Amino acid sequence: MQNKKETRQFQTEVQQLLNLIINSLYSHREIFLRELISNASDAIDKLRFAAQTRPELLEDGAAFSIRIEPDKEKRRLTIIDNGIGMTYEDVLENIGTIAKSGTANFMEALARSKAENGIAPELIGQFGVGFYSAFMVADRIVLTTRAAGAAQGVRWESTGDGTYTIESVDTAARGTAIMLELKPVEEGEQDFSDAWTLRQIVKTHSDFVGYPIVMTVESHAAIPDAERLKDKDGKPIGEATRVVQKDETLNSMKAIWARDKNDITQEEYKEFYTHLSHDWNPPLTHLHVKLEGATEYSALLYIPAKAPFDLMTPEHKHGVHLYCKRVFIMDNCKELLPEYFSFVRGVVDAPDLNLNVSREILQQDRLVRNIRRNLVKKIFDLLAGMEEDTYRSFYAEFGHVLKMGIHTDAENRDKLADLLRYHTTDSLETPVSLKTYVKNMKPEQEAIYFITGDSLTALAHSPHLEQLREKGFAVLLMTDPVDEWVVRSLTEYEGKKLKSAETGDLDIDATDADSAKTYAGLFTFIKNVLQDKVKEVKASARLKDSMSCLSGEASDISAYMEKILKASGQEAPTVKRVLELNTHHPVIQQINHLFEQDSKNPALADYSRLLLDMAIIAEGGKIENPAAFSQTVGQLAGKALTE
Ligand code: ADP
Ligand code: MG
Repeated sequence: MQNKKETRQFQTEVQQLLNLIINSLYSHREIFLRELISNASDAIDKLRFAAQTRPELLEDGAAFSIRIEPDKEKRRLTIIDNGIGMTYEDVLENIGTIAKSGTANFMEALARSKAENGIAPELIGQFGVGFYSAFMVADRIVLTTRAAGAAQGVRWESTGDGTYTIESVDTAARGTAIMLELKPVEEGEQDFSDAWTLRQIVKTHSDFVGYPIVMTVESHAAIPDAERLKDKDGKPIGEATRVVQKDETLNSMKAIWARDKNDITQEEYKEFYTHLSHDWNPPLTHLHVKLEGATEYSALLYIPAKAPFDLMTPEHKHGVHLYCKRVFIMDNCKELLPEYFSFVRGVVDAPDLNLNVSREILQQDRLVRNIRRNLVKKIFDLLAGMEEDTYRSFYAEFGHVLKMGIHTDAENRDKLADLLRYHTTDSLETPVSLKTYVKNMKPEQEAIYFITGDSLTALAHSPHLEQLREKGFAVLLMTDPVDEWVVRSLTEYEGKKLKSAETGDLDIDATDADSAKTYAGLFTFIKNVLQDKVKEVKASARLKDSMSCLSGEASDISAYMEKILKASGQEAPTVKRVLELNTHHPVIQQINHLFEQDSKNPALADYSRLLLDMAIIAEGGKIENPAAFSQTVGQLAGKALTE
């Protein structure tokens, strides 16, 4: 179908991004070339992958390359690939919209960093604005493309000012050509139509790209004797050389992972990481392994310093690329590492792999399974061996992802548990490992105590912890929703049970049998008043200074879990909880006194509701009738002050 030329509007987010890019991103402008080359390289990868099952896609040739064509006079630069190309719909979808999740977060971070001290280039790197970065150097961009196997091409053009045009074209080579009309060179700035400059940029940023990046360069070649002018004695005269044009491959295409560790500089490791991840921050650390024998492979894996914006979204890709003898097989290879290591980026090259392996059968491949087991072990060793400071910064970024493994990977649960870090009531500033927690346990302490909720401060002051604090038992303060799943799967550590400070029996001695009898009447009364809301009223073993708190049975879901489920729109059972009262508290004693004097006293019902509301407020919950609460408190305060 022939699509006539039409003018369209950029998606709002894209236009915002373009405005930021055009107006404020001036350092590191040269990276636009890396982005375009990387897209070209991706496009060739995609075509090669698709051609495994549809060889006819390669009918226009299988000699892959990326060409760079500068034109100094016209101030133009064109980047051409013979990869998979794009259909009309592809162009509409890919160029002109950002489909990525995390876009809103990214825009926010960008605006914030702009307000603070100018756009931080790492941000762009982390998000990977890719194609749009070309507007840093170009006033106008014309993209011409034809999808492999398609008859017609597409022409897209924009000056980045809110609209673009798109139309079908009849003649276009397979792949994509991106023509940049370069901005004028400013004093002291690089000229992106200059061959020497371009060669340097490719060397720095794209040397590892696996396809030749070719540029036609002019050089002086000697003129063969036969073709030269001669004098009357037959001696050659005049020009001895002439200008010739020849293709030069600018990148070495060297597979860094296949080289010897000792020959690779830190700078090269870092460059390869940037090439692979598009993350401008240097990686936190890397792991370079070569294994020979039955399971032969080499791998170069990186742990990023910062989490990408889309880490927690379903669109997030696993960061490992699979190669076979340096030939790219696939990216986003989920089978090589478990989900909880999905933040690891890098390359795995397995020479014995079947080149036509598909994603579907990869999972059953014995070699792949062995490599995976091996890599997982190595990553655990790497993390366990990190210095505590480095580890802490890693954990702050990726701890959340790691924790998922506790639930999903029973085999490695112990190793994962070693990697957990939590704030505790004894260590509010610095999170500690479970090992440290256990080492510091009191001799008479039998369990590891924890409490879950969304605010560290609220948890640290929770009434549930009063008796534990009194005994000097530290409590792990868990503020990540995933922690609810952690404690569900991790029931013990180093032989010590994990126990909720909120639900179940604390197994600490703090109530006396007498109070049960003394308060039996009052508790039954309160239970009757609150029968729709609580399942039991009892003397508390948890409380010391507060009057009341809510608890549950060991099998009940915690208040935090209930909140998480409801917040995520899931059906959460509303669990009736236990109202615990502190029989050592003078107010409770006073209420009991009133009850014994006159069990019909109308104030008793108000007090019952007050005790429940106070328990809810103490754990940061919402009470049903704040006005009534406030009134009762007001009356009581009034009485106390006038007495
Ligand atoms: P990313 O590469 O992170 O997806 P980009 O902004 O760099 O983001 O590119 C957006 C999309 O446009 C790519 O995912 C791809 O689908 C398409 N695209 C860009 N350049 C090319 C190209 N040279 N050949 C084919 N498709 C391309
Ligand atoms: Mg890209």
